[in-house]
Amino acid sequence: MAMTVMIQEAGGPEVLKLSDREVGAPGPGEVRIAHKACGLNFIDTYQRSGLYPLALPHALGMEAAGVIEAVGEGVTHLKPGDRGAYAATPPGAYSEARVMPAAQVCPLPDGISFEEAAAMMLKGMTVEYLFHRTTPIAKGDTVLFHAAAGGVGLIACQWARSEGITLIGTAGTDEKCALALEHGATHCINYRSEDWAARVQELTGGTGVDVVMDAVGADTFEGSLNSLMPLGMMISFGNASGPVPPFNLGVLGQKGSLKLTRPTLFTHIADRASCQEMADHLFGKVLSGDVKIRIDQRFPLRDVRAAHEALEARKTTGSTILQI
Ligand code: NDP
Repeated sequence: MAMTVMIQEAGGPEVLKLSDREVGAPGPGEVRIAHKACGLNFIDTYQRSGLYPLALPHALGMEAAGVIEAVGEGVTHLKPGDRGAYAATPPGAYSEARVMPAAQVCPLPDGISFEEAAAMMLKGMTVEYLFHRTTPIAKGDTVLFHAAAGGVGLIACQWARSEGITLIGTAGTDEKCALALEHGATHCINYRSEDWAARVQELTGGTGVDVVMDAVGADTFEGSLNSLMPLGMMISFGNASGPVPPFNLGVLGQKGSLKLTRPTLFTHIADRASCQEMADHLFGKVLSGDVKIRIDQRFPLRDVRAAHEALEARKTTGSTILQI
C-alpha cells in the first residue's frame, strides 16, 4: 500500500485527498518506483481545477524521483535498485510509490540528489525544449521570460546565462526580481508595479525581443506580442493567470509577421530516446554547475493542500518539493 493524493472531483485545493492505494506489480513496459521526493508544478493546479480535465477519480503529480523496486517485461534501461527520476504522464507522482510506464523514467546520475531531481525534471526539460527545440535561439539573442523567479523561471535564467543569451525577466515583486537577477537574468522588471512592455522597448532600444516565453497567459499575452521584433517568436506555454482568450490570427501579421506556438513538454518527451537526450542535457547543465536547482519550499506530502495554496497565491519562488 502507498499513501497517494487523489482527486474525486475538480475544484480548489480542498479536493486533494490522501488515501492508501494498492501499488501492485509492473506490467510489460512498466516499473514500480518507490518515491523519495516529488515535485510540485503549476500544471498540477490546472489538472486539480479542471482547466486540464482528467478522468476522475485520478491521482495527481507529474514529477518525482526514487528507487526502482521492480521492472516489467521488456524494460531494459532500468533494474531494481536503480535510482530513477521522471517527468511523465499519467499523473500520479504525489505518492509514496506507484507503477508507471518506464519510458519516461530516466536513470539518475550520482551527484544529483533525489530532491534536486524531483525539483527539476519537468521544469528543467521544459527549459531544454524552450531554448533548443522550439525556435532557433543564438548567442546574443534576447528572450523575454515571464515569472522569471518561479520554478521553471530560475532554471531558465541560469540556462540563458550559460548559453550567452540575454534574458529579460519579469516577476511580481522586487525581491523576486532580485532573485532572477542573481540567477542570471540580464534585467528583471517588476510587472506588477511597472509598465513592463514599455520597459522592454526601452531596454531593447525600441527594437523588441527575438523571442518571448510566456506561461503567465491571459494577463501578459498582448503585451508579450507587443514586445516582439518583426518576425519574432511568441512561445505561449502556460496559463498561470488564466488561459489566453480567443484571438484574431490577423494580429500576428499586423504586428510584423510574428510567429506563435503553443508547445507542451509531453509531446517532446513522448519517445524514450528524445526524453533521455533532453534529460542528459539537463543533467549535464546541473553536474557542470551551470544550473543550480533551488528548492525554496518543502511540504510533507500530507500538506499538499498548503503547497497548492502557496503556489497559486504567488508565494513561492524556485522549486517546491513534496517530501515523502
Ligand atoms: P511557478 O513557480 O513559475 O509559479 C507560477 C508563477 O506565475 C507565480 O509564482 C507567479 O510569479 C506567476 N503568476 C503570474 N500571474 C499569476 C496568477 N494570476 N496566479 C498565480 N501565479 C501567477 O510555476 P512553474 O514553474 O511550475 O510553472 C511556470 C509556468 O510554466 C506555468 O504556467 C506552467 O503551467 C508552465 N509550464 C508549461 C509547460 C509546458 O510544457 N507547456 C511545462 C512546465 C511548466 P510572479 O509573482 O512573479 O508573477
